[in-house]
Amino acid sequence: MTGVDLIVIGAGPAGMAAAAEAAGLGLSVTVLDEQPAAGGQIYRAVTQGGALRGAILGQDYLDGAGLAQAMLASGARHVTGAVVWNIEPDDQGITVTWSQDGRAAQMRAARLILATGALERPVPIPGWTLPGVMTAGAGQILLKASGIVAQRAVLAGSGPLLYLLAAQMVRAGTPPLALVETQSFGDTVRAMPQLVAGLRGWRTLLKGLGLLAELRRAGIRRVTAARDLAVEGQDRATALRFNSGGRTQRIACDTILLHQGVVPNTQASRALRLDHDWIAAQHSFAPRTDAWGQTSHPGIFVAGDGAGIAGAVAAAEAGRLAAIQVAHQLGRIDAGKRDARAQGPAGRLAAERALRPFLDTAYPPAAQVLAPADDTIICRCEEVTAGQVRGWAKMGCTGPNQTKAFGRVGMGPCQGRYCGLSVTALLAAAQAMPPAEVGAYRIRPPLKPVTLGEVASLDAAGRRAEPAQDRGAAP
Ligand SMILES: Cc1cc2nc3c(=O)[nH]c(=O)nc-3n(C[C@H](O)[C@H](O)[C@H](O)COP(=O)(O)OP(=O)(O)OC[C@H]3O[C@@H](n4cnc5c(N)ncnc54)[C@H](O)[C@@H]3O)c2cc1C
Repeated sequence: MTGVDLIVIGAGPAGMAAAAEAAGLGLSVTVLDEQPAAGGQIYRAVTQGGALRGAILGQDYLDGAGLAQAMLASGARHVTGAVVWNIEPDDQGITVTWSQDGRAAQMRAARLILATGALERPVPIPGWTLPGVMTAGAGQILLKASGIVAQRAVLAGSGPLLYLLAAQMVRAGTPPLALVETQSFGDTVRAMPQLVAGLRGWRTLLKGLGLLAELRRAGIRRVTAARDLAVEGQDRATALRFNSGGRTQRIACDTILLHQGVVPNTQASRALRLDHDWIAAQHSFAPRTDAWGQTSHPGIFVAGDGAGIAGAVAAAEAGRLAAIQVAHQLGRIDAGKRDARAQGPAGRLAAERALRPFLDTAYPPAAQVLAPADDTIICRCEEVTAGQVRGWAKMGCTGPNQTKAFGRVGMGPCQGRYCGLSVTALLAAAQAMPPAEVGAYRIRPPLKPVTLGEVASLDAAGRRAEPAQDRGAAP
């Protein structure tokens, strides 16, 4: 089995910046990502270029090309289409297993940076499983990856990503019918005390205001403080129903793009049994890290949104910091050089993080999403409702792992990736316990669905050093 100094999982801003920094400091680096090209969520398919893409997706998106080029030119090896499904640390290092084109491969490393990013918070409302309903992120993936824009769409929920997507749809010539937002004026007022400290992140704030102005100029209808959202339709979504100002309203549409913010993707960090904390302001768990991103397991780092939501610029800076510390731990730079090199990234990271408390308070997830109605499905894979989970809590089911035995919740193809936070929130409310005490699903490998054939493609010792095909590798 081949070995390297550092494996980075995820080629988003955090992973790309970490790989380039580490390779620049003389480390041998392999980056694994399941996507066909570098970029992660925000810079998905950015290396495809094209003036029209830039005009629609915006300058922030285009800026990602620099990060991708820096990684590809750094000497780091980028393995695309590599779905990581097992990570095993031991006394000497870490073994990472992935599948690519139906075959499994393994590699060892002295250090690991998890840069697996964020997931959209699930939005369990009545009718959310109907065809025609997607997350806003999924709508944006269609746009970035295939140039497809959702038709006759309503964007609904809370969070700045809705403004960005709406503006991108306007620029693409297919504006959304409306933006139905769940946050209220009261939330903005509550967020105001955080604004002064947040002004260090004024660039992001200005961008947000610019997007709102763009939507106003385009005449996009906006409704705020919407409650009781429900998707209407028999075989597919035909309308979004909601209550605003005490009045039930209905917007007929073909597509509904839901969003309630993003949360750290903790599947890998959970599988590794790393320590996690409940981040109350973000209504989610995140792995506990030090200032470099090192977790409770020495030698394993988390960088970017996977360690707490802070956005793409912060993710890249966190990636650089983790790489610098890895280079120090492996003896490539002394403490003085490390600290000097870390100064810039640490300062920029702090500035980016400063605005987060304001955004978290101004755009909270809707109460309806944190406490769905009894008949709303919360586990899409196994079709389990919120009422069933509440019922199990009454029967004495105290933790998320027990709910699996009661009704297979979290045991489908997504392995609890999407229902996990809903189950924790429901059990916490039913038992009047803090979510931190209720805990989260115990995640076991494989992290992603894997076939027996893929497992069998490892050799007799369970080792295959090279992936079947190494697409997009750096020279
Ligand atoms: C759907 C979606 C769309 C978003 N769009 C925007 C946007 O347009 N603008 C914006 O400012 N912010 C956006 N965000 C927020 C944005 O993702 C983050 O702020 C930023 O991308 C975080 O960077 P990151 O490097 O931490 O993670 P990401 O960019 O999310 O990169 C993580 C990478 O890890 C890979 N990965 C995860 N698990 C595995 C695995 N098991 N095996 C192999 N690879 C794996 C993923 O394929 C991904 O490429 C979006 C978030 C989501 C969820």
